[in-house]
Amino acid sequence: MSEPEVLPRLLIATMNRGKLREIRALLAGVPIELVDLHDLGDDEEFAEVGQTFEMNAVAKAIHYHGRHGIPTMADDSGLSVDALEGEPGIHSRRFLGEDVPYARKMAEILRRLEGKQGDARAARFTCAVCLAADDRIIATIVKHVFGVIADEPRGDGGFGYDPFFLSTELGQTFGEAPQEEKDRVSHRGQALRSLVNLIETHDPIRALLGVPPLRRH
Ligand code: IMP
Repeated sequence: MSEPEVLPRLLIATMNRGKLREIRALLAGVPIELVDLHDLGDDEEFAEVGQTFEMNAVAKAIHYHGRHGIPTMADDSGLSVDALEGEPGIHSRRFLGEDVPYARKMAEILRRLEGKQGDARAARFTCAVCLAADDRIIATIVKHVFGVIADEPRGDGGFGYDPFFLSTELGQTFGEAPQEEKDRVSHRGQALRSLVNLIETHDPIRALLGVPPLRRH
């Protein structure tokens, strides 16, 4: 009788179960066990002090890889509004205060954009993803999705700033778009698909993760 297969583990350095669910669905075809910080009993708060999304994702990946010693993926994301010099940017979650409801965060941004129309309301979501293994950074991926800030929030799908982000590609806000449509174009969907593509097609990366090489015909 063959031994039960022990899968290699990949730590997803997030406390956010929603993100983990999305990542799990995307990595479904890769023979790897995804664990999150809850699974490892790690509830330490990580201070994000980097000046870019990429720096924060890299710092988190290195930190948690060093702490737990298994291959680790971390991400950082947020909304940047051109007319507000990129704010709230890396402060998106904490903008006006962590516990302030998104309805108020959006109302404040709308107030600051009063009188601006069309391209003057340009904005983007960014997602940076970093993979660390073997005591080094293996890959860093940064993806954006572009749009404008709508005149008012619309739709109650998604989360955070979704209701007032009018996607150029979809022609509707992320709050109005079905989840699959958002995932198809979103910063996070693009970044995670790129990472999955790297793992699915690169044997050196599979080796670092402990995943068997691709079978070539
Ligand atoms: P973090 O990546 O967990 O630090 O979260 C970044 C913050 O950016 C979130 O809490 C939201 O405020 C905002 N954000 C990032 N991605 C999205 C998105 O897809 N929709 C709406 N808000 C987002």
